Amino acid sequence: MPTAPRLKPLITRSQVRRKVREIAHQISRDFHGEPVHLVGVLKGASIFLSDLVREVDLEVSVDFMAVASYGRATNSSGQVKLIKDLDSSIEGRNVILVEDILDTGLTLDYLRRILEERRPKTLRVAVLLDKPSRRLVENVRGDYVGFQIPNQFVVGYGLDFAERYRNLKDICVLTPPPLLDERGHPRVKP
Ligand code: 5GP
Repeated sequence: MPTAPRLKPLITRSQVRRKVREIAHQISRDFHGEPVHLVGVLKGASIFLSDLVREVDLEVSVDFMAVASYGRATNSSGQVKLIKDLDSSIEGRNVILVEDILDTGLTLDYLRRILEERRPKTLRVAVLLDKPSRRLVENVRGDYVGFQIPNQFVVGYGLDFAERYRNLKDICVLTPPPLLDERGHPRVKP
């Protein structure tokens, strides 16, 4: 009989709340008085962005993108596809790309490149979680990083496994871990 998955809290809701406030205060200090445009990556970053945006003490606007990742992670080209683009132009704006988790770095590398081409005034990256041991793209990093975590599959606070668990308030490790593809992403699709 297969065992039911267990959820082991890794980062509690109060740790998340404190960290999100810290990041928001840092952003408010860095851009003092200037407007910022937060770009969330659907769907995982939606909850992080929703909490972050309410703590930023600046004029803020929000937009979203969605990507699909596929294929082997042995090179950094052609692994990510844009499936929902932004609604408005980012030219001349202070853009903060908001991601749930920085893993191999392929997604952020792709998004950073396409956003840079649109000539924002500034482009920064905020990630809630970072798994440095999984990195395949060397020069990809977050400007604002919540927590560095080990190479474990986590769910909650927006992060899913086959569309489940996004609503968990704590960030939890799923055990046993899901079967992962060559890219390190779960094989099970909803
Ligand atoms: P990357 O392109 O950096 O390898 O992948 C980033 C994406 O992989 C994240 O936005 C997220 O969707 C997914 N991902 C990576 N690690 C995890 C994890 O531990 N849990 C979940 N739920 N998704 C993950």
